[in-house]
Amino acid sequence: MQLLDGKAISSQIKSEIKAEVEQWVAGGGKKPHLAAILVGQDGASETYVASKIRSCEEIGFTSTLLRFEADITEAQLLEAVESLNNDPDVDGFIVQLPLPKHISENTVMEAVNPAKDVDGFHPINVGRMCKGLPAYISATPFGILEMLIRAGIETSGKHCVVIGRSQIVGLPMSILMQRNTYPGNATVTITHSKTQNLKEICQSADILIVALGRPEFVKADYVKEGAVVVDVGITRVADATKKSGFSIKGDVDFNDVAPKASFITPVPGGVGLMTICGLLTNTFKAAKKEIYK
Ligand code: NAP
Repeated sequence: MQLLDGKAISSQIKSEIKAEVEQWVAGGGKKPHLAAILVGQDGASETYVASKIRSCEEIGFTSTLLRFEADITEAQLLEAVESLNNDPDVDGFIVQLPLPKHISENTVMEAVNPAKDVDGFHPINVGRMCKGLPAYISATPFGILEMLIRAGIETSGKHCVVIGRSQIVGLPMSILMQRNTYPGNATVTITHSKTQNLKEICQSADILIVALGRPEFVKADYVKEGAVVVDVGITRVADATKKSGFSIKGDVDFNDVAPKASFITPVPGGVGLMTICGLLTNTFKAAKKEIYK
């Protein structure tokens, strides 16, 4: 079994981007600028945004954080989005999800200028990805593809099973894995809560990508000998032995599954760390106007 080590791979990618940014700026290019909108005080969202901002500083980007109280109206939030759309210094920005229930996430996502949508959630970026056109690929799928590439994992002709069909992970992952390119050319099965015989379907997976949000759901009997197992799940589980009062669990029972896998991602220390690399890569592309002129 080989570990797909998100910590090592993400730190390698960050140093590569840092070196490229230094070169770009030395050559007269504009310092990339990522902005983030954070609404409310959700603990997990605070942690994610703080780590995105910290990563920007590490690799030489400018970063801006706009914070709003949870009772902000949708109209006020849309004004903030518009101000970032119109700010010539901001290359890309994200609106950290989830948003409070009274705000439509779809309306907010669609208000983001696709050229600055470095989370890759706007329908124009999703549509362009589906058609194989240059687009911002959303951060988590991007991070998973990058792990497969860097580990040299063959995907062509393989059976890839994706558990979960969310807009941000399962659905884009399934589309990316069937594209006529590398990584891709897999035969993809996408599964969800209404899927029958889930265990049997998973047993035929050469590559199993798990994103359902149920801690340690996938056990060894779901996994074929030698399969590549990518665990996207991140759930906080109460843990009295930890100072924080919780520990982070993936959707795969790592200790049970790892002996059967050829490659496996740990949680924490796997896909979660790679996600930030996707965001940073997209922001640098935005600064260079690589996708939208
Ligand atoms: P989500 O929007 O909650 O969707 C969960 C998906 O799993 C749905 O499609 C659901 O089916 C399916 N599902 C639920 N129970 C199932 C079951 N028993 N059998 C088969 N399918 C089932 O999920 P998400 O946003 O993709 O997040 C999934 C997990 O990944 C969460 O733990 C989240 O925290 C984590 N995550 C991690 C990262 C990262 O950077 N590592 C990024 C994003 C999310 P239906 O569609 O039928 O309801």
